[in-house]
Amino acid sequence: KAGFIAVVGRPNVGKSTLINKLVSEKVAIVSDKAGTTRDNIKGILNFNDNQYIFIDTPGIHKAKHLLGEYMTNSAIRVLKDVDVILFVLDGSQEISTGDQFVMEKVKEAKKTPRILVVNKIDKLNDEQLKAKRAEIEEKLGEFDGIVEISGQYAIGLPKLLEKIDPFL
Ligand code: GDP
Ligand code: MG
Repeated sequence: KAGFIAVVGRPNVGKSTLINKLVSEKVAIVSDKAGTTRDNIKGILNFNDNQYIFIDTPGIHKAKHLLGEYMTNSAIRVLKDVDVILFVLDGSQEISTGDQFVMEKVKEAKKTPRILVVNKIDKLNDEQLKAKRAEIEEKLGEFDGIVEISGQYAIGLPKLLEKIDPFL
């Protein structure tokens, strides 16, 4: 199986670190998707007979968009076009308006499955992790999966790929 995975989240939540940690080699793309989606490819991972194609969605996480109203239709179109959206949070920080802005955009791609990635859990103790779960339930909507990871320290990455698998 192969699929396109959009990685979204406000700046500094750890998107680039996560993709870099996951992606080992680049190979030919077997999936077929619209040009805009292909242009945004950041890396490809072959794992367990699957091909995970990670893409970036410019316009979803640029700082100016956190302040303004403007959002390009093309960014939303990409989110509608991919197989799954990874919405990345910095688990060591409180959920911000920036996070909620990105979440609103994710929700506009109604039919695309979305997985919440709670990153930087290496910075949390058990109690803080529990509090974080409660905060997520209160401030964010429904997800098709939630996974707690540390991209930097490679914690929870196999589980993340497992959660993505059914949507490829
Ligand atoms: P992006 O803007 O979402 O692409 O975020 P980056 O990948 O550039 O990471 C932003 C900062 O967070 C950098 O200083 C990273 O080293 C740090 N970071 C990323 N992932 C983790 C993590 O899992 N744990 C910790 N402690 N820091 C992380
Ligand atoms: Mg980045």
